Amino acid sequence: MTGRTADFLIIGAGIVGLTIAVELKRRNPGSKVVVLEKERRPGLHSSGRNSGVLHSGIYYPPSSLKARVCGQGAREMARYCEERGLPLLRIGKVLVPLRPEDGPQLDLLEARAGQNGVEAERLDRARLRDAEPEARSATGEALLVRQTSVVSSSDVLESVAGDARGAGIEILCEGALGLVDAERRRLDWGGESISYGHAVNAAGLHADSVAHRFGAGRAYTLLPFKGIYWKLDPVAGLDIRHLIYPVPDLRVPFLGVHTTTAIDGTIYVGPTAVPAFGRENYRGMEGVTPGELLRIGGLLVRQLASGRDGFRRLAWQEGRRYFRRWFVHGAQALLPRLRPEHLLPCTKVGIRSQMLDRRSGALVTDFLIESAPGSTHVLNAISPAFTSAFPFARHVCDEHIPS
Ligand SMILES: Cc1cc2nc3c(=O)[nH]c(=O)nc-3n(C[C@H](O)[C@H](O)[C@H](O)COP(=O)(O)OP(=O)(O)OC[C@H]3O[C@@H](n4cnc5c(N)ncnc54)[C@H](O)[C@@H]3O)c2cc1C
Repeated sequence: MTGRTADFLIIGAGIVGLTIAVELKRRNPGSKVVVLEKERRPGLHSSGRNSGVLHSGIYYPPSSLKARVCGQGAREMARYCEERGLPLLRIGKVLVPLRPEDGPQLDLLEARAGQNGVEAERLDRARLRDAEPEARSATGEALLVRQTSVVSSSDVLESVAGDARGAGIEILCEGALGLVDAERRRLDWGGESISYGHAVNAAGLHADSVAHRFGAGRAYTLLPFKGIYWKLDPVAGLDIRHLIYPVPDLRVPFLGVHTTTAIDGTIYVGPTAVPAFGRENYRGMEGVTPGELLRIGGLLVRQLASGRDGFRRLAWQEGRRYFRRWFVHGAQALLPRLRPEHLLPCTKVGIRSQMLDRRSGALVTDFLIESAPGSTHVLNAISPAFTSAFPFARHVCDEHIPS
């Protein structure tokens, strides 16, 4: 076996791994930073399969890490796109309650916007009709957040990967992580042995199992949720002017089926949050293994039995969305003029790296970082980790990686 060395070894070339790699190199210009990516190129999982929305940071409790990095992240990502000439659509977002009982959630979101420094305008029925004629609000009211924008996440990722390579960071693709000897700070990568000073696990959908191999993150396990999108047929003639989101159930980390206008003008409706049967189960039974199927099935049964955090309602509401009829039904609650034939099937699908806390049985809602001697593990890099990537990388370096 040949030997390679790295001062900092990053596992995973999604937006989280790449921004941390660039930040480490910026702080330690003389160091050797190597990124390991199992696929043939970066961005084939969450970072290249998301909605591309730069979230304003309105949803998160002010004490959360998400609240601390999301708004700042959106501003930095928008500036990055402008500086690099990458497409950026400053489109704004309208949030509407779908049920009368969601009204107080609108008050809570307005309060959180204030606490998190996000400008949000309360719209009454008449102003909502002017701003977003297609949206239905169960209470007549809505919130308008002008700060929300959309980017092309694959363009951003390609650009950040280019920055990394330009800074002298090596990105080794198409390898497989072999034996990890955390004590000796050595691991096998595609038949090669790599010695490292500090390893950072940013493996997204595999972050829990990678962490376990380093002796970290034992309390957490992945419960993957699939985000399926449909395309809105332009002939539908719906006059959609912003991103339209329902007021979400803030107990669960999903935002509900919404519209996303991509930078090329295509309007997507989705994503769902249906259980996935495997970590990379993007289509049919692709990426499903009996072991993972049993593991995920067992976790779902336990969650349903416990009924905590509105999980039964979530399972009932979301599980049905595997079926077109129910998906349409959900989307019509937001857009009453939508007809089933307006939704075209599309190949866009992503899977959320959602962690479950095995001790409490709770879905983890905030970003989660665990450290072990010689390694740092980014678990639960769910939305808005794309938006938050730049300040999140600084946070990980400041608080979790010894300088
Ligand atoms: C449907 C959906 C919609 C979303 N919409 C938004 C949005 O609008 N705005 C937003 O801010 N966020 C959004 N998100 C969240 C966002 O996409 C993720 O938070 C972010 O991309 C996470 O980045 P990551 O680098 O952690 O993961 P990834 O992009 O998944 O990267 C992890 C990488 O690690 C690699 N890897 C895994 N295991 C190994 C291993 N053993 N060895 C080497 N490499 C390995 C993988 O191949 C992958 O490339 C969305 C997510 C989904 C699923």
